Amino acid sequence: MKKVAIIGGGLSGLLTSIQLVRENIPVQLFEKRLYPFHRVCGEYISNETIPFLKSLNLYPEEFHPAQIKRFQLTSVNGKSVTLPLDLGGFGISRYSFDNWLCQKAIKVGVEVHQNAEVNKIHFQENQFTLSTNKKSFSSDVAVGSYGKRSLLDIKMNRSFIKKRSPYIGVKYHVRNEHANDLIALHNFKDGYCGISNVENGLSNLCYLSHRDNLKETGSIQALEEQILFKNSFLKNIFKNAEFVFVPPETINEISFETKRPVENHILMAGDAAGMITPLCGNGMAMAIHSSKILSGHIVHYCKNESTSRETLESSYTKQWQEQFAARLRVGRQLQHLFGSTFTSNLAVGLAQNFKPLAQHLISKSHGKPFS
Ligand SMILES: Cc1cc2nc3c(=O)[nH]c(=O)nc-3n(C[C@H](O)[C@H](O)[C@H](O)COP(=O)(O)OP(=O)(O)OC[C@H]3O[C@@H](n4cnc5c(N)ncnc54)[C@H](O)[C@@H]3O)c2cc1C
Repeated sequence: MKKVAIIGGGLSGLLTSIQLVRENIPVQLFEKRLYPFHRVCGEYISNETIPFLKSLNLYPEEFHPAQIKRFQLTSVNGKSVTLPLDLGGFGISRYSFDNWLCQKAIKVGVEVHQNAEVNKIHFQENQFTLSTNKKSFSSDVAVGSYGKRSLLDIKMNRSFIKKRSPYIGVKYHVRNEHANDLIALHNFKDGYCGISNVENGLSNLCYLSHRDNLKETGSIQALEEQILFKNSFLKNIFKNAEFVFVPPETINEISFETKRPVENHILMAGDAAGMITPLCGNGMAMAIHSSKILSGHIVHYCKNESTSRETLESSYTKQWQEQFAARLRVGRQLQHLFGSTFTSNLAVGLAQNFKPLAQHLISKSHGKPFS
């Protein structure tokens, strides 16, 4: 039986590993960190994923995720509009969800290597050789589910890596009085901050900012006080919330450039194949959906001697493009509406006066429920 190596244990990697092992395909998954851990993410998952997660018995019901049905948008100067969400979503922390999925993966037989960063991958004679700082491994299929940016992208000289990205991400968990069914997106100069609830009465407070804001102000705290607080909704949240962990989780170099779903014969999934702007709240749904599509193709390849690697790569690329390329384009266009006083006012005004248009745009950045 062919063996599969999965590099990166976020949602796309963990879910791919579980689906493959349930089809009796041996899987080794490499995750550079040790579960459980926090990561920068708004932790709002579109409900389009629920039928699929339930079909795998992997909807995290036992955590009682927040059920989110309304969307509030505020502009830099504090105008606000609230819309119902057609599809809605649920809120669960990645700390809990990824760790829970990792335990499920181990239980079904995935060989999970934690604290194992893959720093080299080589393809020769139809086999991959992967190296971590401890050991080398070989496999017939390699999945790149290592997120938005990795050392491996630099080593493969992927085209998106050559352009620097100006965005940084910051994430907290807080206790405050945020309505359980509401996700809010508050604009500030050259950025936006989302807030929505997760499990255990906590709210996720997460923002994306241009790195120049940080350069100008000198520190995260100064950035928040001098720039975010100009939006009165944000000032109110930051002043009144109880912060559960400080300092926050932070990341930089968040890129929304196009990528290729297959690179050097490695099948990419989730953010490694293409990252949608966080304001769409759809990256995790895409990571989950891409695990479904990818697993189907790998199962077919592993179980049918007559299927060539070339067919595997081209059919996966085709289906990936059909499913996600349009959504990524809408996300990039929407990103331009946010972050300046003028355009964020315009976006709130448009949403206030043309609610069906705003709901149409939201639906265009999302997929349909899948199972
Ligand atoms: C600020 C911000 C807010 C967001 N908010 C939302 C939201 O509210 N809703 C939503 O749906 N999406 C949101 N997203 C997007 C979402 O977080 C991602 O789309 C999603 O996490 C992608 O999942 P993934 O499995 O592809 O990668 P990840 O979840 O990033 O997992 C990748 C894993 O690979 C590991 N790794 C990396 N390199 C290596 C290596 N060389 N070897 C081994 N392991 C490695 C990493 O440690 C990590 O655990 C947000 C993103 C940002 C930046």
